[in-house]
Formats: sequence, C-alpha cells, structure tokens
Amino acid sequence: MRVLLLGGTTEASALAHALANRGVSAVFSYAGRTGAPIAQPLPTRVGGFGGVDGLVDWLEAENITHIVDATHPFAAQMSQNALTASAITNVPLLVLERPAWVAEPGDTWQHVPSTEAAVDALPDRPTRVFLAIGKQTLPLFATKPQHHYLLRLVDAPDAPLPLPDAQPVIARGPFTEADDLKLLSDHQIKVIIAKNAGGSGAEAKLKAARFLQIPVILIDRPVLPMRHVVGTITEVLEWLGHPARLGV
Ligand code: NAP
Repeated sequence: MRVLLLGGTTEASALAHALANRGVSAVFSYAGRTGAPIAQPLPTRVGGFGGVDGLVDWLEAENITHIVDATHPFAAQMSQNALTASAITNVPLLVLERPAWVAEPGDTWQHVPSTEAAVDALPDRPTRVFLAIGKQTLPLFATKPQHHYLLRLVDAPDAPLPLPDAQPVIARGPFTEADDLKLLSDHQIKVIIAKNAGGSGAEAKLKAARFLQIPVILIDRPVLPMRHVVGTITEVLEWLGHPARLGV
C-alpha cells in the first residue's frame, strides 16, 4: 500500500498524523500556496503535478495504490484532476470532506453561488467588510472600491493589494470565537464574506457574527461530480484497512 494524501486543510494534517502513527506508507502533497506550510509527519512533496497527465505519470512512477483527497472544498480543480486520474489509472479515490456549515437561529446568511455573486451582493454605499476568502480572488472586489476591506491572510502580501482601502491581518487558523469577536468588534465590521468551507478551524467567525448580529454573505461550494466522500478520519482508516483505535 502507498497512499497519496492531497492536503492543505486541518483535516488532512490530522489524517497525516493518523497514517504516520500506523506506519502507513504515504506521501503528503501541498500545492505550495503558503510560504511556510505546516510540517507533516509524512514524506512531503510541494507543487502542482502538471494537470491530469502529470498526476497520472506521478501516480504510476510512485506506485500509488490509494488516493485520499483531503483538499479544501473550494480546491475544485485539484479534486477534479484527482477524480479523472483515478479513473484513468484505476487507483481508488476517497474524498475526506467536512460537511458544509448550516445556519442556526440568530444567523443572517445570504447564500451566493460564486465569488462574483458575493461582489454583487455587497451594497453600493461604503461599508466595512471582513473578506475571509484568502488572497486568490481578491481582485474581483476591485469593482467595489468604495468599501473598507479587512483581509485575513496566511502570508503577508508580497505585492500591492488590488483594493484601495484594505487592511491585511496575517494569521493562520484554527481561530477562536473570542479572537474573532475581538477582530470583528475592533474593526467595526458590518458584513462578512466567507466561503462555506465547513469544519471547525474557520467556524469561529460565524459564531462571532451570530453573537454580534453581523450579516454573512456565504459563498456556496463548487459542485463536483459524484465521488466517494467520507466525513471522518476513522472512515478513511477503515477504507485503507487500518481501522481506528481509541483516540484515532
Ligand atoms: P485548485 O484551484 O483546485 O488547484 C489548482 C492547481 O493547484 C491544481 O490543478 C494543482 O496543480 C495544484 N494543487 C492544488 N492542490 C494541490 C495539492 N494538495 N497538491 C499538489 N498540487 C495541488 O486549488 P486551490 O483552491 O488553489 O487550493 C490550493 C491548496 O490550498 C489546496 O491544497 C487546498 O486544499 C488549499 N486551500 C484552498 C482553499 C481555497 O479556498 N481554495 C482554502 C484553504 C486551503 P496541477 O494541475 O499542476 O497538478
């Protein structure tokens, strides 16, 4: 057995520890988006594979027997490539994906299908926005330059930000509700834009928004073809034939 673990999430890192603890032969893969990715207890490669063809070649060269896609729910290109490469090579694929967040009493959420739709959903009058979506799609918000944008980024920006009134805060999750209550209050945030990532690591801002009665524009997940999806590390271990012990 030799597993490819596609990472970049809190859950992927937890799975890496579970595999390492069991002595499972596995390679952890990062896209290389952040400057100092969290060290993993597995052999780690960094960077794209070169599309489907590159991934197919890599799977064969590395004698991979199982693929676990534990990427972020919005990493749709990587997930689609993994699915296609799995079909071509007959290497079985399992997706570890946390359930989407669901609104609770007290939440004021507006669901939108894309980041472009989130831009459209912002009001015309200037307001203070917590843009909790990472850095890749920030330029889309340049069409609404009248707003003040608070950005939470993993790395300090290495180029001028595409927004005229933006303040970056450099921080890496998981975040606590107390921290996010302070962040939203200190910056007098009036609306939050977030991706429906699910999981616990980034949920604090939604709990803080509920408490402070701040509306949230929530971007829906990209839709992918039908895949074998599980929600827990225990299920991944069972799929790999390494059932969980107490405490995973
Ligand atoms: P994406 O758009 O789906 O992927 C674009 C390309 O990046 C892929 O085609 C692949 O390049 C490479 N790539 C992505 N994930 C990879 C991985 N784990 N290992 C090796 N190559 C990978 O992905 P993304 O949205 O930019 O996300 C990049 C990474 O950040 C992922 O690992 C994801 O889990 C993590 N992340 C994403 C978000 C988000 O909101 N999108 C949030 C938090 C963390 P090739 O085609 O060359 O193979």
